[in-house]
Amino acid sequence: MKLSILGSTGSIGTQTLDVVRNNNDIEVVAISANSNIELLEKQAREFNPEMICVYDVDKAEQLKTSVSDLNVKVVSGMDGLIEIATMNSADIVLTAVVGMIGIRPTIEAIKARKDIALANKETLVTAGHIIMSLADEYNVKILPVDSEHSAIFQSLQGNKRSQVSKIILTASGGPFRNSSYEDLKNVTVEAALKHPNWSMGRKITIDSSTMVNKGLEVMEAKWLFGVDYDQIDVVIQPQSLIHSMVEYVDGGIIAQLGTPDMKLPIQYALYYPDRKWLGGERVNFAEIGSITFMKPDPIKFKGFRLAYDAGRIGGTMPTVYNAANEWAVSKFLNKKIKYLDIADLIEGAMEGHKAIQNPSLEQILETEKAAHEDVEEMINKIN
Ligand code: NDP
Ligand code: MG
Repeated sequence: MKLSILGSTGSIGTQTLDVVRNNNDIEVVAISANSNIELLEKQAREFNPEMICVYDVDKAEQLKTSVSDLNVKVVSGMDGLIEIATMNSADIVLTAVVGMIGIRPTIEAIKARKDIALANKETLVTAGHIIMSLADEYNVKILPVDSEHSAIFQSLQGNKRSQVSKIILTASGGPFRNSSYEDLKNVTVEAALKHPNWSMGRKITIDSSTMVNKGLEVMEAKWLFGVDYDQIDVVIQPQSLIHSMVEYVDGGIIAQLGTPDMKLPIQYALYYPDRKWLGGERVNFAEIGSITFMKPDPIKFKGFRLAYDAGRIGGTMPTVYNAANEWAVSKFLNKKIKYLDIADLIEGAMEGHKAIQNPSLEQILETEKAAHEDVEEMINKIN
């Protein structure tokens, strides 16, 4: 298998390279990052890719010098990302960049007939109608890496999609599942970055704490599995043991369980339909004792509730939801806004937007830009 990785220095990217290390039949043909050239150089020396993309042009120049003894091509910017997403020698592209930056390389990879191992959920949320119909047209597989969607995908094997009655996405509820709304008013960046069960990139860790991540995953599930929003339920399952479930028309429920380890869904996406040995802890039910469930609180997790509204309105509204969230989260991480402002800013941006149905890529990117500007303007008013 020949693999190109978009975002090899991140949480998913580095765990993907662990999967490569644990097996001996994956050739990494390309790696990429936004700017972390120190780690890219290490990865290049270990995995010998044909190409490296550094989005940041100056950093790409620096990397060129430091890897000049290697037989590797260094590219940069969006053109570079597209080049590694479409290169001849790759047969599968793993999309592990964070944010909407993944849309264009994913579209081009599909057109170049590469299978996609998809972690970058923002791409499906905002351009799901384009991605899924292109995948159909070019006959490529979209293999979910997100743990919940991988669980659903695993629970669908051997069954008919027409006999699915609903999908039950599980959520950990994040660090604030037991906090009161009042407590959330003064949440610090440090507290929000402490996820109880998973270790992930900064943006998705904040999204998990607000449950916006689950909102994005609801929209991701809609596109991946072709279900309606009424058929997607979310339940909090704090132990992160049940990774998600599918209920069929006869009331039977099939779930996938396991210890929380992203290497399993990554490996399953790469080797599908094969399963390979994977080390690590195994679930010991007797030791765990109980698995518990809770309903997500729609007031405390307003950002989650808004995702259903955005999804049902459809068109460019999920882009506004996602782009407003991306902008607000980066401002929160830079301590420019308060924690509860994130959901308020998403709501404000959605209220100010009139959705365009079936948007083109250009309309999606214009909507993204407008949503960023909107949020910025609202922030200037708060401060
Ligand atoms: P990280 O922030 O850890 O990593 C992001 C990666 O993308 C880094 O390699 C980063 O490079 C790279 N990157 C960012 N911007 C650009 C750019 N403009 N051009 C090229 N590369 C870029 O994120 P995660 O790994 O946590 O998440 C990646 C995606 O996977 C997200 O969409 C997330 O929602 C999804 N996901 C993540 C899970 C997890 O467990 N982490 C679980 C399920 C889904 P650099 O290091 O230089 O910044
Ligand atoms: Mg997930």
